[in-house]
Amino acid sequence: MTADVSILNATKVFGAFRALDDVSLDIAAGEFIVLLGPSGCGKTTLLSILGGFLEPTSGTISIGGRDMTHVSPAKRPTTTMFQDYALFPHMRLLDNVGFGLRMRGMAKAERDEKALSYLDLVGLRASAAKKPHELSGGQRQRVALARALAVDPDVLLLDEPLGALDLKLRRQMQDELKAIQKRVGTTFVHVTHDQEEAMAIADRIVVMNKGRIEDVGTPASIYMRPRSLFSAGFMGEANFLPAKVRGLSANEAEVETALGRVALPASAFVSGMPAAGRDVTLCIRPEHFRSASAAVPTVSLGRGRITGSAFFGTHHRCHVAADGTALTAHLPQTEEPEVGAELDLRLKADSIVVLQDGAGVGH
Ligand code: ATP
Repeated sequence: MTADVSILNATKVFGAFRALDDVSLDIAAGEFIVLLGPSGCGKTTLLSILGGFLEPTSGTISIGGRDMTHVSPAKRPTTTMFQDYALFPHMRLLDNVGFGLRMRGMAKAERDEKALSYLDLVGLRASAAKKPHELSGGQRQRVALARALAVDPDVLLLDEPLGALDLKLRRQMQDELKAIQKRVGTTFVHVTHDQEEAMAIADRIVVMNKGRIEDVGTPASIYMRPRSLFSAGFMGEANFLPAKVRGLSANEAEVETALGRVALPASAFVSGMPAAGRDVTLCIRPEHFRSASAAVPTVSLGRGRITGSAFFGTHHRCHVAADGTALTAHLPQTEEPEVGAELDLRLKADSIVVLQDGAGVGH
């Protein structure tokens, strides 16, 4: 089963500290939402408010159109899956997965059949009679997922469920989690501080910082068109170039940077055209320095000199100095950048995003 979720003006205050500050978010039924942000930004607080383990100081939570703000966890159509899977060590996997069903009074035959079907979903049907200690970390994690889904929640809340796994297993489990979510269609709200994990699994990512939502969108839209400086910096690498708006026309603006004046299309200004004289920041992804081609409008930031370079398999990561400004540029794998060589800092005009300080969807 599945349900939509609506969070309206949720604030949570601990003493004098605002862990959540006026957060509003609509989640569609069946969506895989990832709450992404650094430690302490309020992700777990928001998840706990959705699960009913915390009440918001103000604001409302509704699930499937019903107000859940003051409803206890057990009476909500939600299940929370924590990082320490909390499997019962003495129970077979079948009984671990069927535990919630037993608590709901389901008869043994029906319960076992359902538990088996969920073990099947996570690829562990053949291990039904095993105990948790006979499993690897990734397998235990799958059992916890099967157990959480077996009680048919409308919304599954996942708090860093892959945090304890090593990197390779985590990547594998991300793919599995995404595939399973698509099969069951349950709304998933998943907390992580790992940007790559968010991109690997989310339909939409909610970028949080200091108790607020900074940005909401698909992985591609947040990466390509971030709506705040924080969001741009948290979702991958970015160069930030301070600039001042000089000339304005209907479809472009001229901005002055330490690397000269450039004209940018109106579409680069993600939060609308700023006033002339306004301070803004150009956000440039490192791989966009070689995106220019004869066929598209380009912007030139002059020339820089490569001061350092490292090979990362898919690209070379280069430090570049240009008129006293330090930049990072990713050059294609096929190039052989040399320290001391000059680099033409030319970009596709529409690859630059211009951000205004203090911008962000929750501000
Ligand atoms: P992490 O990734 O480290 O778990 P998070 O983004 O999930 O971080 P939260 O656990 O939501 O962050 O905490 C947000 C802030 O609220 C933190 O600064 C935390 O210290 C504070 N906080 C959380 N719970 C309480 C509490 N019960 N009493 C006081 N402060 C709290």
